[in-house]
Amino acid sequence: MKTHKSGIIFVISAPSGTGKTTICEGLLKTLDDLKMSVSHTTRKPRTGEKTGVDYHFVDEQTFHKMIENDEFVEWAEVYGNFYGTSKRAINDILNSGHDVLLDIDIQGAKNIKRIYPESVLIFILPPSIYELEQRLINRKEDREIIRKRLSKTVEEISQYELYDYVVINDNLEKAIKEILSIITAERLKTAKINKDFINNLIMEGKNGEKRKNT
Ligand code: 5GP
Repeated sequence: MKTHKSGIIFVISAPSGTGKTTICEGLLKTLDDLKMSVSHTTRKPRTGEKTGVDYHFVDEQTFHKMIENDEFVEWAEVYGNFYGTSKRAINDILNSGHDVLLDIDIQGAKNIKRIYPESVLIFILPPSIYELEQRLINRKEDREIIRKRLSKTVEEISQYELYDYVVINDNLEKAIKEILSIITAERLKTAKINKDFINNLIMEGKNGEKRKNT
């Protein structure tokens, strides 16, 4: 019998260049009962990205049709492209008895918390803005894009209190370990215990006592 209930939604947000993608990959490799929700986006695929794996890449018309049909739990415009979490992406994972991992921006995180108050929001931050700038420069991002991203980052960091946890990525392995600890602790919360398991333990104990007395 399962000792704990599944179905927790973990949301990870991070300013771009903070190492979020690598961290999410690390989590998924370690925990096979945690599944990533694949979002829809109107952004063009980057080299190596596959539709259905990294994102469902769609055109704006398809995206807006999905909004009209109420197919999204949340959606947002990020840097001029649309991104959305479909109800289906989340429900398929929940129905298969797994926990969900969402890699979404701060607007999406806010909406997920409103719709699923028990979801767990984790914010990953760089050790310093200077370090973040260096990472973006190393990624060969355009100067203007870097400037825009850094200014958005500062605005996002000031909203850190929306999140349940803040993890600083000054060391990738340490950051992954810390998030794994958060996931473990959340899964072991009293509210997440399977009541049938507890009732069974109690019954077993009572039956044992009866056996001893007869
Ligand atoms: P990228 O284009 O670099 O993959 O993602 C850009 C931003 O969009 C990231 O901050 C990412 O977390 C966010 N994002 C990706 N999917 C979703 C989604 O479904 N909803 C929201 N609100 N943001 C998303």
